[in-house]
Amino acid sequence: MCSYCQKLVRLILLFSVSLHHYFLNLLPSLFSFCFLQTNEMKLTRDCKVIFPAYHVHAKTKRDKRQFIGELGLRWIRLQRQRLRPGTGTVMFDIDDTLIDNTEKVTDGFEFMVKTFVEASKLFVVYLVTARPEDTRTEVINLLYKLEIHIPPDRLFMLPTELYSRDTTYVEKFKWNVFLKISAAHCGVVARFGDQVWDIAHIDFIEGEESEHIDHKDCYFFMDYTLGGTISFKTPG
Ligand SMILES: [Mg+2]
Repeated sequence: MCSYCQKLVRLILLFSVSLHHYFLNLLPSLFSFCFLQTNEMKLTRDCKVIFPAYHVHAKTKRDKRQFIGELGLRWIRLQRQRLRPGTGTVMFDIDDTLIDNTEKVTDGFEFMVKTFVEASKLFVVYLVTARPEDTRTEVINLLYKLEIHIPPDRLFMLPTELYSRDTTYVEKFKWNVFLKISAAHCGVVARFGDQVWDIAHIDFIEGEESEHIDHKDCYFFMDYTLGGTISFKTPG
């Protein structure tokens, strides 16, 4: 490798490490000023992953959803101040993220919907769901009834032929949509979902590093390979 390339690689590595440390320091401070920490609410750093990742502990799932909704909103507002107008976007999953399994918005989901509504005023927001494409009208009507308003071109649904097949198709679908949206808007500010595949890099999902994360766990993390996205995992 020529000396110019070596210098360039060193510079990129230095930048990645600095970025890593920047967000490592930023995340807990973001937490401390945005939420009342009580004995029943605690964050622990997940040292099994190489990027800054925090496990959210709380008494109830409702509390965890409230925390994720409020923290996510703080992050989104900060990014609106920082980014150029017209850049950045936000992605949400639908089921078990904005609505429960009976299609209701209670038990903490109301905080997530509030975050969706507020985020929609600041950024272009997308919904990405593994519900099949042939149920589009039904899904739009349901969302409208729940006051979750989304233009049809900002709702991505799983191609019907992939529905009911194994979850690797869902992982790939969610990842490809993330790449598409990210490229169209110069990055994704935040991703919200109850499954790791809703919010993580596909290599992380398919690797051993994510195996210890349970579906019911609540997390937020900054994987620097996603280019500045904070991933918010609601409890499943
Ligand atoms: Mg879901």
